[in-house]
Amino acid sequence: MTVFWCESAILDAHAAAAVRIEERGGLITAVEVGVRPRDTDVILVGLVLPGLANAHSHAFHRALRGRTHAGGGDFWSWRERMYGLANMLDPDSYFELATAVFAEMVLAGYTVVGEFHYLHRRANGESYEPGTAMEDAVVAAAARAGIRLTLLDALYLRGGLSATGDAMPLDRTQARFSDGSVEAWTTRREAVSFGPLARPGIAIHSARAVPEERFRAVAEAAGGLPLHAHVSEQPAENAAVLARTGRTPTELFAEAGLLGPNFTAVHATHLSPNDIHLLGGTSSSVCFCPTTERDLADGIGPGVDVLAAGAHLSLGSDQNAVIDPFEELRGLEMNARLASGERGRFTPAELLDAATSAGYRSLGWDGGALRVGALADLVAVSLTSPRTAGAFADQAWLAATAADVHTVIVGGVARVSGSTHELGQIGELIAAAVGRLG
Ligand SMILES: [Zn+2]
Repeated sequence: MTVFWCESAILDAHAAAAVRIEERGGLITAVEVGVRPRDTDVILVGLVLPGLANAHSHAFHRALRGRTHAGGGDFWSWRERMYGLANMLDPDSYFELATAVFAEMVLAGYTVVGEFHYLHRRANGESYEPGTAMEDAVVAAAARAGIRLTLLDALYLRGGLSATGDAMPLDRTQARFSDGSVEAWTTRREAVSFGPLARPGIAIHSARAVPEERFRAVAEAAGGLPLHAHVSEQPAENAAVLARTGRTPTELFAEAGLLGPNFTAVHATHLSPNDIHLLGGTSSSVCFCPTTERDLADGIGPGVDVLAAGAHLSLGSDQNAVIDPFEELRGLEMNARLASGERGRFTPAELLDAATSAGYRSLGWDGGALRVGALADLVAVSLTSPRTAGAFADQAWLAATAADVHTVIVGGVARVSGSTHELGQIGELIAAAVGRLG
């Protein structure tokens, strides 16, 4: 058992002073407010938030950070660079890179990540031996970095759609993304072993990469696991799917029975009014990735409308060009301000919910809240840094950055203390992992 005494903490979206949080077996077992610390308590100064959730990540994209900004381009030309990187990874280099990237996430205050994983096979398209070598690398990397993981194991069956909606074969890079069939995907997935900090989830890469006639088979294989899909990130995706089927991607997912509380639509940048109605009416989740969506010039998603319709909003770092949960939640609000000409499109409490409990929910964990019974995941933020000094505690997440996180607790275990991750200098780990890839 560990007891944390917090100078201040967020309980039910409000800041409370002098809070004792008791942890046993990785869960919060008691919360007391307005009490003095005892001698054996671990003291957390500043503001303690619930663990922050990164509901959508591709860890290996981190190796492109700061390397793709010359020469213009768009999402599709960036994707060519990303494919070049994907070609170079094997289980060892994937483990090294993902460990460093997950550690960067923990250092920034993320306590759980949904890794949307599609590098399943060798670069030539043949299976590894064992067939789960790449999945095992991700699970081991998360354990080493001390972050909770939902491995969103993605189904990927075709190379995409032409502008007129014709199915395209897998290209040389995409061959390693595909198991070849829903059945082979299920068999490989079910052979993955998970430790105490990790659990399975599934994903449809997108309506581009999976034929719509396979969606029902995915629904049958889902078994109550979290199910994520890239949805309508680019207008060209919508146009191609409409040309092929007369439906939007969201309408296709709805017809196959995939929407619902276990479903998360990632990006959802270019939704129709009916898409918003379908996602909201089924209590689905929508995961925005503001720092990626601006980096890739995707556009601004309809966050306000999606929330009003009844969907749950979560946040993800996606391509990891930025790893900062505060930047993502601010991006959600600031994008909506720019698009509407109005401030306060979300309340501070709604933004924190998107960054914490809604993200945990999307990934299948009961956490992201400082209450009895929840996972004992805590993030302590300085309120005296140049960025946060003077901020109200119940708005501090609109002022803080990842650099203000000084302590991170995952399941009652301190992974970051004194602003240092237990693995040491994370910048050096990342430099070594990226350097190895040339
Ligand atoms: Zn993604």
